[in-house]
Amino acid sequence: MTTKYIFFTGGVVSSVGKGVTAAAIGRLLKERGFNVTAQKLDPYINVDPGTMSPYQHGEVYVLDDGAETDLDLGHYERFIDSSLSRVCNFTSGQVYAEVIAKERRGDYLGGTIQVIPHITNEIKRRITQVSKSTGAEIVLVEIGGTVGDIESLPFLESLRQMRSDIGRENTIYIHVTWLPHIGATDELKTKPTQHSVAELRSIGIAPDMIVARSDFPMGEDLRDKIALFCDVEKKAVIPMVTTPILYEVPLVLERAGVGDYLLKRAGLEARRQPDWTDWEAMVQKVSHPHPQVKVALVGKYVELHDAYMSVREALKHAGLALDVDVDILWVHSSDLEKGRGWEDVKTADGILVPGGFGSRGIEGKLQAAHYARENKVPYFGLCLGMQLMVVDFARMIFKNESANSTEFDRSTPYPVIDLMPDQLGVVDMGGTMRLGLYPCELQPGTIAAEAYQQPLVQERHRHRFELNNAYRDTLQQNGMRLSGISPDGRLVEIAELVDHPFMLGTQFHPEFLSRPNRPHPLFVAFLRAVKQKAGLN
Ligand code: GLN
Repeated sequence: MTTKYIFFTGGVVSSVGKGVTAAAIGRLLKERGFNVTAQKLDPYINVDPGTMSPYQHGEVYVLDDGAETDLDLGHYERFIDSSLSRVCNFTSGQVYAEVIAKERRGDYLGGTIQVIPHITNEIKRRITQVSKSTGAEIVLVEIGGTVGDIESLPFLESLRQMRSDIGRENTIYIHVTWLPHIGATDELKTKPTQHSVAELRSIGIAPDMIVARSDFPMGEDLRDKIALFCDVEKKAVIPMVTTPILYEVPLVLERAGVGDYLLKRAGLEARRQPDWTDWEAMVQKVSHPHPQVKVALVGKYVELHDAYMSVREALKHAGLALDVDVDILWVHSSDLEKGRGWEDVKTADGILVPGGFGSRGIEGKLQAAHYARENKVPYFGLCLGMQLMVVDFARMIFKNESANSTEFDRSTPYPVIDLMPDQLGVVDMGGTMRLGLYPCELQPGTIAAEAYQQPLVQERHRHRFELNNAYRDTLQQNGMRLSGISPDGRLVEIAELVDHPFMLGTQFHPEFLSRPNRPHPLFVAFLRAVKQKAGLN
């Protein structure tokens, strides 16, 4: 079949859940038997989000093939449950870099290079490439930012052109907007939505569907009004009230008839009836209170919870599997260094130290690892969290506080975490890491092997430093098990302590492979220990 494209634009304000809406719609279409994938177009100039501060951008989400992408790709993978690839995310920076490189090579034969058609052609090439390389029949394309941003104009122009390139039945435009609530009169307002649609129309795009997000339920009169003023069918005005349960969104959209409407609009017949039994059961479970466990998440960007989006979701998924609600206590690692935030660490039933870069807050994270080790509190270290668990253990073995990772102290006498010899001399910050899926062999009889129940796994990586092989023997002789090793024997992938209920760290990021209906085995194992610590069994 001809590839169908569904384009998502945002109106009024950002952060209204455009990514979640796209992801959920992907699920609706997958449930109807189609091969669906999703792509995010980021209009900023950075080449990828890999070097951007999480404060600016939230989490960097890593794919199987090692692409460092926008966090919306995490939503797509969790909702649609298919693995995405590098072609599923691109930025203005990449588009311009490509066009300029071609110009330098002389590919344009002396022509004047312009936004239309050169930049827009490159954008369209990248959009159409997705179905070619993934075989998807329906591609959901989300444009970052909000209509009205200067930098999104070339992207919107490309979407407009695509309708005339490939036809109306193959292109659907969905505009996701926000209805503000006026407290004094207790009413929702549609005017900003009308303005934003007017702006979109002035660019030549008439939306086929409007998803109107709001914090309060929308009456039929408002639906009529949006339909009339924005010129969409009433049944294509989809009210979406804020729900505390993220995974309810596909069900809300299903009930609103979005899946059937889109298929009809694209001239497609459902290949099977959607089966929401498992999904509904999951949402049911989330909406019922369970006994609570507390996990202290000790990080550097904790003010912005989006910076740890996948970790938070993975904890939720595992909590669902074990019938507990996970209350995350967000602890700032540099606070711990100043003696603050310890109440949370001490009341927590488990401690999680996620990934990170740079030296700020490192000693605080080390203190958290130290506390977990000494007090036998379950500890889960992800990437940097694993490296620091090793550093803390080494400080204990060598009775020397200067054991460290060379990332933080180049001249430490005990460089237990270090660059591999073949990485020395790497200076660039962008794209110079071990990225993406790598195999890991589990060592029988370990907590990790017990959790996974399989001998070989593949996990996603994003880091430069590794456990220094020169210290393997000493660490093992003192009670650390190296429970996951790369099949060639060169790299330690998982470490755990023998004399501890659960102190385990992974060199990779397990959070990226956790799915709502398929929690990650190590998160489940961690939470099981947390549950035990909380006295719930
Ligand atoms: N900064 C560490 C490294 O580069 C850990 C990275 C991470 O936690 N993702 O190895």
